[in-house]
Amino acid sequence: MEFTERARGSLLGGALGDALGWPIEFMHLDAIRRQHGGAGLTDLADADRGGQVTDDTQMTLFTAEGLLRGGRREDLHAAYRRWFHTQRMPGPVSSPDGWLAGQDFLYASRAPGNACMTGVVLDYRDAAPFGQEGPVNPQSKGCGTVMRSAPFGLAGLGPDEAFRRAADAAQLTHGHPTGYLAAGAFAALIERVAAGMPLPAAVDATLAQLATMPSHAETTEALRRAVRVAAEGPGSAEGVERVGMGWVAEECLAVAVYAALAAPDARSALVLSVNHSGDSDSTGAVCGNLVGALYGLSGLPADWCALVEGREVLLQVADDLAALARGDRAALGDRYPLPVR
Ligand SMILES: [Mg+2]
Repeated sequence: MEFTERARGSLLGGALGDALGWPIEFMHLDAIRRQHGGAGLTDLADADRGGQVTDDTQMTLFTAEGLLRGGRREDLHAAYRRWFHTQRMPGPVSSPDGWLAGQDFLYASRAPGNACMTGVVLDYRDAAPFGQEGPVNPQSKGCGTVMRSAPFGLAGLGPDEAFRRAADAAQLTHGHPTGYLAAGAFAALIERVAAGMPLPAAVDATLAQLATMPSHAETTEALRRAVRVAAEGPGSAEGVERVGMGWVAEECLAVAVYAALAAPDARSALVLSVNHSGDSDSTGAVCGNLVGALYGLSGLPADWCALVEGREVLLQVADDLAALARGDRAALGDRYPLPVR
């Protein structure tokens, strides 16, 4: 399978999981089952929100934009500040800073995470060495780090650099080591799967990589739990909730990995990843990034792809990341003005 097909699948899959999980983000599993039946919410058409995406997809697009507009940690900071403006403004200004900030649909504010909002307004601060608390929101390990980090694995960086850059950029908003190491592990996992590695092998390689990092224990334990519960039998909401609720970074990553391992295809993995009492849009988004990279765009439910908000922009940005990965800046047109250094 072509890399571009996997990159497209990863970004669009994330949006599908985000859109499927958003209507049930703050619902207990019992309430979801009362409203949607015993199997839960199983069809994006039944979500009844027009395929809307939230901060998870919005920030993922700005992560990609930061990579495409220079790729340094300072460039990610600038990109996340452009995202912050979308959460404060009614729509694009007449001369937006870059093509992405000109997209109307990004100017919806749908329960963005607190650490992301408070972190990006601060002036730029250097990252702390791995294992130490970062300088911004030092106690925070919310899933806002993981849910935005897939593009680091789609930019042709290789697993080591994808991990390092994602974890460093996660520290722009979250300082708890588990918060940023889970983001690094997710980016490295996406990199491996998008390169064609089977998922179980990619998880094993990422666990081995994590083991070399200080303060990795919480993230490692969560990922091991995902593998262990997935091996016990078919995926279930009860299995998801034994793995975690997804509000914190390592549980969000683990629930996504559990769903991808336990389900036989992308659609059932997405359904599994959102029907629980936890942070459904983020676990859905992260699982969608993963199964999209695994099965490719053509492996995603086509009827959901037709519904989801921002589809054309997501596909363009995926193609742009693939162009960046192969060193073809000419393919990017004038969408990503580079910083003046
Ligand atoms: Mg969200």
